[in-house]
Amino acid sequence: MASRQSYKWFFETTTPVEGHMHAIARTIVAARTKFQQMEIMETLSYGKCLVLDGRIQSSQADEFIYHEALVHPGLLAVDGRPARALVIGGGEGATLREILRYPSITRAVMVDIDEEVVALCREHLPEMHRGAFDDPRTELRHEDARAWLERTDERFDLIVVDLVEPLEEGPACLLFTREFYTLIRDRLSPRGVMTMQAGMTKVNELGFFTAVHRTLEQVFPVVAGYQAFISCFGTPWGFIVASKGTDPRQQSGETIDRLIAERITGPLGYWDGVAHAHSFSLPKFIREAIARQDRIITDKNPLIVA
Ligand code: SAM
Repeated sequence: MASRQSYKWFFETTTPVEGHMHAIARTIVAARTKFQQMEIMETLSYGKCLVLDGRIQSSQADEFIYHEALVHPGLLAVDGRPARALVIGGGEGATLREILRYPSITRAVMVDIDEEVVALCREHLPEMHRGAFDDPRTELRHEDARAWLERTDERFDLIVVDLVEPLEEGPACLLFTREFYTLIRDRLSPRGVMTMQAGMTKVNELGFFTAVHRTLEQVFPVVAGYQAFISCFGTPWGFIVASKGTDPRQQSGETIDRLIAERITGPLGYWDGVAHAHSFSLPKFIREAIARQDRIITDKNPLIVA
């Protein structure tokens, strides 16, 4: 074991005034793609990590927490067995992997703008996608997901928005707006549900999560924020379910455990009835921050994170 001083360190700025450090064993990929800066590095605590524009997207050790929390509340809220799913973004392929665990899924489309990122993840992160890109139910597309959604007339039971944060000049700025969420609502089947990653939920950093929450409330009858602590990010992380019908906050722990047993192949490591109840029970300061928020994100006035 090297002494602390001899490690190479990756320093991630999580906010303009805060950061998180990881000791690195090796850098596996460092590339500038057409859309973003990309690294795959092996850290001493979390194994391989995908980093885009300086932000950790996922780590081998705790990606199951992020991806199970992102996908399952949505699929378990679909009334009846879900058949068609869409992933917007989704780079590593782990979101797709979790969706494909439902034998009822007949088609899973993933639209990620960055072909190079996906190809490098496919090559270097097999632990994450575990063959999801080769599943015959998968269709992989590389283009702006908003442009594709505008063109398609398909309807989905689940749409997962697994995008990078809307960074200045990043590829995702117009995929967090009221107009985009309206497009998603219109591409969902009548029983359809959307889930998304919605930024950090740490104290003093709730502006993004609460603005997305309020924006979605203008589009969907049911909007339910929830959170999970993602260790490699060093912060609790927000997610949101938006639906035309089912409210996941009304689903009991027993219902969730039964639906998992009925619908999913293989055991989960994070999500169950207890995690469901815990995750959707947002603490008082977050509920109050959502209620206070009056920012609506629009194409004319998009939200960019620092
Ligand atoms: N787990 C992540 C996190 O913590 O934020 C996000 C997953 S994933 C790596 C994000 C993906 O979104 C990237 O692969 C990126 O190429 C893709 N992306 C960004 N903008 C996009 C757009 N306009 N259309 C489709 N995909 C986009």
